[in-house]
Amino acid sequence: MRKITGIAVSSGIAIAKAHRLENVSHTIEKKQIDDIELEITRLDTAIAQSSEDLEKIKEQAKKDFGDDEAAIFEAHLLVLNDPEMIDAAKEGIRSGNNAEWALQESALVFINMFESMDNEYMKERAVDVRDVTQRIQSHLLGVALSDPSLIDEQVVIIAEDLTPSATAQLNRNYVQGFVTDIGGRTSHSAILARILEIPAIVGTKTAMTDIAHGEFVIIDGQEGVAIVDPTKEVIAEYETKKKHYEQEKELLKKFVNEPTISADGHQVELAANIGTPDDVEVALNNGAEGVGLFRTEFLYMGRDSFPTEEEQYESYKSVIKGMGDKPTVVRTLDIGGDKELSYLTLPTEMNPFLGLRAIRLCLEMPDMFRTQLRALLRASVHGNLKIMFPMIATLDEFRDAKKILIEEKDKLVAEGTTVSDNLEVGMMLEIPSAAIIADLFAKEVDFFSIGTNDLIQYTMAADRMNESVSYLYQPYNPAILRLIKNVIDAAHNEGKWVGMCGEVAGDATAIPILLAMGLDEFSMSSASILEARSQIHNYSKKELEQQLDHILSRSTSAEVEEFVNNYKKEMK
Ligand code: PEP
Ligand code: MG
Repeated sequence: MRKITGIAVSSGIAIAKAHRLENVSHTIEKKQIDDIELEITRLDTAIAQSSEDLEKIKEQAKKDFGDDEAAIFEAHLLVLNDPEMIDAAKEGIRSGNNAEWALQESALVFINMFESMDNEYMKERAVDVRDVTQRIQSHLLGVALSDPSLIDEQVVIIAEDLTPSATAQLNRNYVQGFVTDIGGRTSHSAILARILEIPAIVGTKTAMTDIAHGEFVIIDGQEGVAIVDPTKEVIAEYETKKKHYEQEKELLKKFVNEPTISADGHQVELAANIGTPDDVEVALNNGAEGVGLFRTEFLYMGRDSFPTEEEQYESYKSVIKGMGDKPTVVRTLDIGGDKELSYLTLPTEMNPFLGLRAIRLCLEMPDMFRTQLRALLRASVHGNLKIMFPMIATLDEFRDAKKILIEEKDKLVAEGTTVSDNLEVGMMLEIPSAAIIADLFAKEVDFFSIGTNDLIQYTMAADRMNESVSYLYQPYNPAILRLIKNVIDAAHNEGKWVGMCGEVAGDATAIPILLAMGLDEFSMSSASILEARSQIHNYSKKELEQQLDHILSRSTSAEVEEFVNNYKKEMK
C-alpha cells in the first residue's frame, strides 16, 4: 500500500482500477528535407485533420458539458490556426527541417512564454498549446492519441495532465475520479471535476511514476490523497466513508431549492463567492440564492492587456443574466497586494498588503476604473446587480468612488444607454478603521460585505500569506467578533443589510455566532452552501441570541470555539 498526496480539487471518494492515459511520447527527430512544398502540405494536412477532430470533440463537449466548456475548443481551434505559431513552423520547414521538428520548435517558444508568466491562468494557456501540438504531431506521425472515450469499465484516470480535450472525452458513466501529476485548483480539469462532481487530485508530481495500469486505487478528494494498492481493511474503511459521503450529499440535496430559514423562522441569504462567469452554474447547482462576491480581478488576469469595456460587459452580463433575479454583488477591481497583473508594472512596495491596492489603485488610475464601472452599469439592466468597492478605509474613498460611478452613470444615460435605476452601492468592510466607524459609513452605503480574510489580517497585524504567523488567523478572537458585531449593529441601525464574503461566513463554528448577531447574507464557496443551509435549519435564532453575551464575554478565540462547540453538542 502506497500513499500519494496532491492538491484536493474536487471532493468525494472513488475506489477503482487505475487507467493510465499515456502521453503519446512523440520522440521527434530532426531530419533534413529536400521537398519543402511536400513538407508544408504534410503540416497543412495534419492541421486540417486536427481541426476536424477538434470540431467533433467540441460538439461532444457541448452536449455533455454545455456551451461554456465547449468554448475551450474554440480556443484550441484558434491555437491551431494561430498564424504566428504556424508561420514560425513553416519558416522552420523552409530552412530545411521536417514538419515535426519545425512544429515542435515553434510550439516550444509559445509554451515557454506562457509557462514563464507568473500567473496561473496564463500558465494554463501553455497546456492548450501542448494539447493542440500533440494532436497535430499524432497526425504527422500517424500514431493515435489515447482516446478516453473508449473506456468501458469503472476506472480512476491517472495522467500526467488531463488535457482539456481528454477531459471532454471522458465517459462519465465509467470514470470515477482522476489523479494528475500537474495542475492546480484553477486548472480546467479541476473545474470540470467539480462540475461532474467526481473526486480529483491534481499536482501529485509522482502519480504517473508510482501507479501502474490496472492497480487498485482509492482517491480521497477531500484530503487530496490517493492510496495505491490498498489493503482489504483500508478498502473496507473507504467503502464506508464513501457510503457516508454519498448519503450526506444526497441528504443535503433536498436543500437545493429550499430557502435558508432557522428553526424559529428567521430567514437569511446564502450566496456564492465566484471568480468567473463559469462558476455561476456550479453556484446555482449548489443552491446559491445569489452571488455575494464576484472577484472581478480574475477577468484582468491571464492576459497581456486590460480587458476592454466590451469584454467586461459580456462577462458581467453573463453572470448577472445567469443569476436571473437573484442578487449579484460584483466587487470592483481588487488588484495589488498578493494579486498582480503582468501588464501593469507598479513600483515595488515594502508592504504590498498595506500599499497601493484595490480602491486606492482604482482612484489613482481613474481611466481603468471608469472602464470597469461603465461595463458594470451597462450590464446592470440584465438582472439584479449590486456594486461594492474593496478596501475602503475612509469615508472620502467611498465618496470619491461613488462619485465616479455616478458620473459614468450620468454619461451613459446622456448617451441614451439604459442603466438600472435601483442599483445598490456598497462596500467591503475589511479594514479595522472602517469597522470602528461603521456607524458613519452606514449612513452612506446601501450595504456592507464583511471581508474577514483581510479584516482579520489587518486587525491582528498578521500577513495572511505568512505561514509563521498563521496562528494569528483567529476568526473567533473577541476583537474580531466585537468588530463584526459593531458593523452588523451599525448597518441595522440605519436600516441597511449586511453580508459577509470572507472565509468565516462558511465556517461551521462561526455560523451560529453570525446568525445570533443578525448577519443577513452569508457568501461562501459554492461547495459549502448546502451544508451551511442544513446547519442553519437546525438553529433557533432566539436561543442563539441568548448565548451571544456568553460568547462575547469569552476572552480568547479558543474559549469561544470551545463554548460554541459545547453548545452545539448539547443541542444534538
Ligand atoms: C476578504 O478579504 O475577506 C475577501 C473576501 O476578499 P479577498 O479574499 O479577495 O481579499
Ligand atoms: Mg479582501
